[in-house]
Parts: sequence; C-alpha cells; structure tokens
Amino acid sequence: MSKYLPIIGLEVHVELNTKSKMFCGCSADYFGKSPNTLTCPVCLGLPGALPVPNRRAIEYCIMIAHALNCEINTFSKFDRKNYFYPDLPKGFQISQYDLPFGANGHITLKNGKKIGIRRVHMEEDTAKLTHGYLETKNKNLGSIHKEKVSFIDYNRSGVPLVEIVTEPDFNDAKEVVEYLQKLRQVVRYLEVSNADMEKGEMRLEPNISLKKIDQNTLPSYKVEVKNINSFRFVEKAINYEISRQEAILETGNTPLQETRGWDEDKGVTFSQRVKEEANDYRYFPEPDIPPVRYSLDQISNLKSKVPELQEEKISRFVKQFALPYYDAEILTREKALADYFEEAVRIGSQKGITPKQIGNGIINKKIDYLQISPERLIAEIEKSTKIESVSDEQLRSIIEKVLMDNPKAVQDYKSGKESVIMFLVGMTMRAIKRKIDAQIVRKKLEERLKK
Ligand code: ZN
Ligand code: MN
Repeated sequence: MSKYLPIIGLEVHVELNTKSKMFCGCSADYFGKSPNTLTCPVCLGLPGALPVPNRRAIEYCIMIAHALNCEINTFSKFDRKNYFYPDLPKGFQISQYDLPFGANGHITLKNGKKIGIRRVHMEEDTAKLTHGYLETKNKNLGSIHKEKVSFIDYNRSGVPLVEIVTEPDFNDAKEVVEYLQKLRQVVRYLEVSNADMEKGEMRLEPNISLKKIDQNTLPSYKVEVKNINSFRFVEKAINYEISRQEAILETGNTPLQETRGWDEDKGVTFSQRVKEEANDYRYFPEPDIPPVRYSLDQISNLKSKVPELQEEKISRFVKQFALPYYDAEILTREKALADYFEEAVRIGSQKGITPKQIGNGIINKKIDYLQISPERLIAEIEKSTKIESVSDEQLRSIIEKVLMDNPKAVQDYKSGKESVIMFLVGMTMRAIKRKIDAQIVRKKLEERLKK
C-alpha cells in the first residue's frame, strides 16, 4: 500500500464540427486539406483584421456546459491569452478567462463518485507545426543540403475549440479514462464534435501530483502532461508520473512544477518547460469583441436542445422495451445505435418481433448497424425465427421414413417408453431441414404411432 494519494485533474480540448472557424468565415473542415489553403487575414492574424464570433460554436459550447450540469453565465466575454509561439500568428489566443460560458458542473462515474467540472470555455485552435527536414540541391556543386525546418499549416488556426477543465478530483488513471469515455460520449450524443482522437479532435492534458495519505492540503506542486491524443496513452502517462513522483518524494525532495510531454516509444514523460503562472499570459479582455449576453430564455432554449443522454435512455429502454439493463447499456453507447434500435423496434412491432429479439440480433450477431438497414435486420430476424410450412403429404412421407429407419425407437414407444417420442421428433425435424413447429411434428408422430 502506497503512502501517497494521487491528485489528478484534467483539461480536455474538443474541436467543434461547425462549418466555419471561430472568428472568420474560413472552412473549419481542415483535416486532410492541402496546407494553408483555408486561411484569411483573420485566422492568419494580419494587422487590422477583425474577429466575428461564430454563434453556432458558442451555442454548442453552452450545450456542452448544460450536458455537463454546469451553471451558464448570462454575461460572458472573450479574453486575450498572450504568449509567443509560431503556431499563434496574432501573438495571443482568443480564449475566456474569468467569465467562461459554463462553470461548476460534474460528471458522475459508475461508482457514484462525482468529478467536478470547474469550467467549460470557448477558444480558438492554433496552427499546426510539423518539424522535419528540407532538402535542397546545390546546382553548381551537385551536393544535397539538408536543413532542419518547421512547417506551419494555418488551416487549423482559428478552428472552434471548447476547453473542459475538471477539479483535481481523480485519484487514479482508471477514473480519468472512465470520465473521458463519458465526456466523448456526451459530445457525440450532442453531435457537436466527432471527437475523433486520431484526427486530434480531442486532446488531453492531465495534471498530476501526489500527497501523503494523511495530508489534508493539496500538494504544493503540480505536473502537467501536454497534448496526449489517446485514452491509452493518458493512462500510461499518469501511471508513469505517479511512480516518477513517488520516487522523488521518497528521497525527501519535491517534484518540479513543470510541463512535460509523453514519449510513446520510450513509455516515459519528459520535461518540456517550467510552468508559466496564469498571470504570465497577461490575460485581458478582447477589445475587438463585445461581451456576450444570453437571456435566461435563450439559455433554457439551448438546454432543451440537449438530447436524452445515455443514463436516461437506459432507464427508458428498460421500462419501455422490457430490456435487461445489460442490453440497454450496450444499445445506448452511441446515439446513432440507439436510434437504429428504436427504428428497428418500430418496424419489427408490425411483424410481431419483440424489442428483446432485436436487441439480441444486434448484440449477439455483432451487427454493424452502419452496413445493414433496420429493414434488413428485421427481415433476417424474421427469417431465422419463422416457422415454414410443410405440406401434410411431405410430412407424412418423412415420418414414414423416420419410423422405418428407427425400428428400435418405435418398439420402445409401443412398449410404453413414451419419452422416446422426442428422439423421433428430433429425427423428423432434421429430415425436414426446415424450421417447423415441433409441436405439430409431435402430434403427427403420436397419431401415426397410435394407429
Ligand atoms: Zn480565416
Ligand atoms: Mn486551452
């Protein structure tokens, strides 16, 4: 048993799937596009260009905040976060400081533990930097010159980004992963982001420190691990930090307050820079964008756009469709799957197929619902459960053959061992090679044997 308790908080950046960028009309759909083709003076940060906020993006941000049980600020504003780095053409990022759109929310984990959400705010993405080499050929000498360079793609610059910051309420990596799965599910249910990790649409920054088990205050330091793009890596990075910091504390020292990166190949975190304090960013109100006001009506209207989320859906499926919890939980993991199931139930109800049969069809056969229409799914379930008719004539001749082939069983039956009838039913059904009601076969067999 360790004498330290990990204290973990999390910052998550989620890219919204709006058509245009946060403060200009450029397309936000940048993935896979040629570098620097989706730009304008605003997202290139040229002097004199003025930002115009994307209303849809702000509404998405407020919907996320609602879904995470936040309080929504009726008066909000944008602020400038100043720092110098080539991915930030203006020299500052437009973000939110003291008046985020949402604050004081929570997500509840399976074991009932509440993870506090400190804030949900709106900001803009930065450009994408790629470090590599540029080869140039010297025409006169014929030699090749290799130069270390960084490429900048401004297509991502200004894409709407929502940042969701938790309280330091996690005590291990497993809780963090469960929270992340839940959060990703929420933004997908809202259809405001695809949250595709591989495309960098959801980026994770855990902060980790350790306190002595009996210590009542938070640790005096905190280590932030930057820009992780997979749940598996975040788990590994947190566990690595816990052992690294424990080893330092054991020597009587305190780990440095710093920002670290995650090296997946080596499976270690590495120091990047000593953390700036918040005031190093010299936050101040964005002078080019007026404050944003929302009426209580507008806010509750946005709340009504939050769809039924997984927990409510599970309860409804269990009640309305008499599904076991287990089935309902699987069928509601994605909104698209839940919608598919309900559509199949609607079609199936006209054909006497039960929701339970449909649930089984989807879960047991591992149906890829994107490939099979609900109509086809119902047709397949119908086929597999349908009782096909066999003419009396056919059935009679099959029965004659079965009785001929099994004289011992016939003898046993006639001498009073009636349980042998099930064997004969089975043999007959096998000979028919079609789905047929076993009760009918049994009745016909009994009639024949009593003659
Ligand atoms: Zn632009
Ligand atoms: Mn941020």
